[in-house]
Amino acid sequence: MIYNKVQKEIANKIDNEPQLSNWRDWKWQIKHSIKSLDKFELITGIKFNKKERSDLEKTFKKFPLSITPYYLSVIDRSNYQNDPVFKQAFGGIEELTTLSSELADPLSEDKDSPVEGITHRYPDRVLFHVSNTCSMYCRHCTRKRKVGDTDFTPSKDQLSAGIEYIKNTPQVRDVLLSGGDPLMLSDEKIDWLLTEISQIPHVEIIRIGTRMPVVLPYRITDNLVSILKKHHPLWINTHFNHPNEITSSAKEALAKLADGGFPLGNQSVLLADVNDCPRIMKLLLHKLVQNRVKPYYLYQCDLSEGLSHFRTPIGKGIEIMESLIGHTSGFARPTYVIDAPGGGGKIPVMPNYIISWSTNKVVLRNYEGIITTYKEPDSYEPKMCDRNCDKCDLDLNINERDESVAIGIEKLLSDSCDTISLIPKNNERLQRREDHD
Ligand SMILES: *Cc1c(COP(=O)(O)O)cnc(C)c1O
Repeated sequence: MIYNKVQKEIANKIDNEPQLSNWRDWKWQIKHSIKSLDKFELITGIKFNKKERSDLEKTFKKFPLSITPYYLSVIDRSNYQNDPVFKQAFGGIEELTTLSSELADPLSEDKDSPVEGITHRYPDRVLFHVSNTCSMYCRHCTRKRKVGDTDFTPSKDQLSAGIEYIKNTPQVRDVLLSGGDPLMLSDEKIDWLLTEISQIPHVEIIRIGTRMPVVLPYRITDNLVSILKKHHPLWINTHFNHPNEITSSAKEALAKLADGGFPLGNQSVLLADVNDCPRIMKLLLHKLVQNRVKPYYLYQCDLSEGLSHFRTPIGKGIEIMESLIGHTSGFARPTYVIDAPGGGGKIPVMPNYIISWSTNKVVLRNYEGIITTYKEPDSYEPKMCDRNCDKCDLDLNINERDESVAIGIEKLLSDSCDTISLIPKNNERLQRREDHD
């Protein structure tokens, strides 16, 4: 069944004589996206009272509404207030609450942007924003500040600054296409872009981050897959948050991608009243792996403006990880990460498993609460490493691009550098020392 009763009903209200082929045409879906309260009411039959309407109008003025007919069809209308898809797609007056801890650009993506479209935060990889629009607007979008204000897909000219930057930055070996949704670009432009990037000699892999399999699975056409296949190794990450989103249409899209040979990953966001439950999360993860998708990250909800109602304490995420580690397949569990406000990048967090440690013994606990010890080797001879691989007898045919200097905590652990501490800039105590001298 590719066209269920609800879908037929929605299609009927959009088109007088709905065609099956229209429903599955991604451009038709975008063209008929639900962008106003009136249209939402008309199509779903859900009616809001005067106060609700005025609240919603206010909300949509600041953070616009856009839902594909397909994603709308996943909502259970008889219980829409509690529906996880409704909550992700529709929003409410809570979004207008701004906390002092919230920021328009919490991840400082704009500050870490050397050229238009590129965020360069990590040594060897960049985020390339190749589209300023999505097929629907997620209410929990981390880039909520930008949603709806400049909906366009950039021209080839506009994308060329980013491509130039990657060309001129030899340490970039991994390019992550994001947006907006990169699959909003036409097939032709995607082909062009992937060709441009994969021709750069130092780029080893390209990744695409897209929510299309979730909110508009018909975007995954045979033609798109055959274009993407020309550009292996290409990794694709998608964004399912709730098991209800894994519909037969979504499964079909995922199967096409998996058959195309793309390693598939999923990034979920931990959302209050949507998926902040170990059972819901586990079911989601199991459904993902059944569809050949590896759960990659579980994100703590960012400190973006208007998301306070979605945020959980970090303890909820740790509790969920506790319920996964050991309890289910290792490859079914994501890494729980907090994207550090201010641009520090993703910080993994999980329950503690090391309980204590001596010079040659580690005390650990497992998922059942069993406490155990691991006896460390007495005979291990630490190898002095001065990062000069030519003199080392471990076999590594290193090329000149590999990191030659250690940074961050790695530097504190290394033998090749005598740094003993990392000290924040303008440390008051050290400032005082200088003043004494
Ligand atoms: C998430 C992110 C990446 C990719 O990080 P991975 O941990 O390699 O998936 C790269 N750049 C930016 C700015 C990011 O936010």
